[in-house]
Amino acid sequence: MDNNSRRDFIKKSAALAIGAVVANKVMSKTLTAAEFLEKESIMADGGKFTLPALPYAYDALEPHIDKLTMEIHHSKHHQAYVDNLNKAILAYDGNLLEGAGATFDTIFDKIAKLPAALHNNAGGHYNHSLFWSMMKPNGGGEPKGKLADAIKLSFGSLDEFKKQFADAGMKRFGSGWAWLVKTKEGKLVITSTANQDNPLMNLDSVEIKGTPILTIDVWEHAYYLKNQNRRVEYIASWWNVVNWETAEGLFVATK
Ligand code: MN
Repeated sequence: MDNNSRRDFIKKSAALAIGAVVANKVMSKTLTAAEFLEKESIMADGGKFTLPALPYAYDALEPHIDKLTMEIHHSKHHQAYVDNLNKAILAYDGNLLEGAGATFDTIFDKIAKLPAALHNNAGGHYNHSLFWSMMKPNGGGEPKGKLADAIKLSFGSLDEFKKQFADAGMKRFGSGWAWLVKTKEGKLVITSTANQDNPLMNLDSVEIKGTPILTIDVWEHAYYLKNQNRRVEYIASWWNVVNWETAEGLFVATK
């Protein structure tokens, strides 16, 4: 297959996988990183962003992440980012989504010049879409392959990496995200961002820029119903559902 037909094939596979989720039933597979990136780099028909279906049921991450949290987080919080992003784009410039403008890359590159509502909701939609793919039922364990080697090389051990990543999440004051980022130089770096910012955004306040490899949402809405104020308990639980295959896929797909 040439590149175009390969891309079409991936696009169709992703569409089929997404279509397989009906009324919150578990679908047979989670999206691969390639499918995720393909899906997220294009607009849905009609130039509007839409809420992606979760690649598993709301209760699939129990007992580590509870059903009600997942349901509210996805169907209310993420849906609101999507709706408000579509509104913000129309209010700013309906043509932003036409042609070459129709990618997150374009939006994140010019984000410093965009209105706050567009900035925040574009980040909210992208970050959450990525976050769902970072978890899976019966997840956890250890990364494999090249990512496992790179983590060991960069941080000494998986345990040391997990400690530093959790620390980044704990130290993020207020709302935000912790990230493992692959920089342009190919280095693995742990960082965190405020609110709905991410390492793809061309902003001075984003200290480490690059490709997200792993991320955790540390907003209170991600854990308050189950863990209340105990963010440390939520992060510890989260390691049991982490989807290392997504992280490995993102790591390998990025030059
Ligand atoms: Mn969230």
